[in-house]
Amino acid sequence: MRLRHIPGAEEQIAESPFVIQDPQANRGRWAEVFGNSNPIEIEVGMGKGKFIMELAQDHPGVNYVGIEVYSSVLLKAIQRRKGRDFPNLWFLRVDARDLAEIFGPAEVEKIYLNFSDPWPKDRHAKRRLTSPGFMAVYDKILKPAGTVEFKTDNRELFEYSLESIPSAGWTVDLYTFDLHSSPYADGNVMTEYETKFLAEGKPICKLRASRRRGGEMPE
Ligand code: SAM
Repeated sequence: MRLRHIPGAEEQIAESPFVIQDPQANRGRWAEVFGNSNPIEIEVGMGKGKFIMELAQDHPGVNYVGIEVYSSVLLKAIQRRKGRDFPNLWFLRVDARDLAEIFGPAEVEKIYLNFSDPWPKDRHAKRRLTSPGFMAVYDKILKPAGTVEFKTDNRELFEYSLESIPSAGWTVDLYTFDLHSSPYADGNVMTEYETKFLAEGKPICKLRASRRRGGEMPE
C-alpha cells in the first residue's frame, strides 16, 4: 500500500469516536467495552476497513476490532465509516506485535489476516504476519478453539505460511490456492485488495489455522 503522510491525521484519529485511544487499558475487559459478551473477532491490517465493516453490518451478534498500524490508512477507514453506526466495531491504531498487551488470554475468537504485506526479502521474514513470532502472539490472545484465517494473492507468502504456521505448533485445517473456484468461496467477504486482484485475474489463496491436534480440540 502506498503511504503518504496526511497532515492532521493523528489529530483526527485522536478525536474520532470510532477509535479506542488507549486500548491497553481494556486488556481483559473488552466485553465491558462492547457492553456484551459476544465473541470478538479482529482483523490485523484492515487497511481502509471495507471487509470488517461489512462483517460488522452482517453479524450484529459478533464484536469486531479493526487494527491498522498506519495513521494515514486508518484515517481512510474512519472517513469511510462516517454516517454508519456500528455498535459492534472499534478501530485501533496499533502494531500487531503489541496485541498481547491489548487483549488478555483467550479474549479473541478469530483473527483475520487479509492480504498482509509480503516482506519478500529473507531478512524481513520476521515481519510477515504469519511468521512464528506473530503466531506466538496470536496464541496468547486466542481462545483454545480460536482460528486464524489468512487470504493473499501472493503465492510465495502463502507457501511460506503453509510451512511457518505448522512450525509454530499450529494445524492448517484447510487451504486452497484458488479460493474463488473452491467450495470455500461460499460466504466469502471480499476485501479491497481482493477485489482489485480478482479483477486482474489473480487467484486468491486462503488458509485457516487452529491449535487443534488430529481433530481433537485443545485443552
Ligand atoms: N486488509 C486490507 C485488504 O485486504 O484490502 C489491506 C491490505 S494492505 C496490503 C495491508 C495492511 O496491513 C496495510 O494497511 C498495512 O498498513 C497493515 N499492516 C502491516 N503490518 C501491520 C502490523 N504489524 N500491524 C497492523 N497493521 C499492519
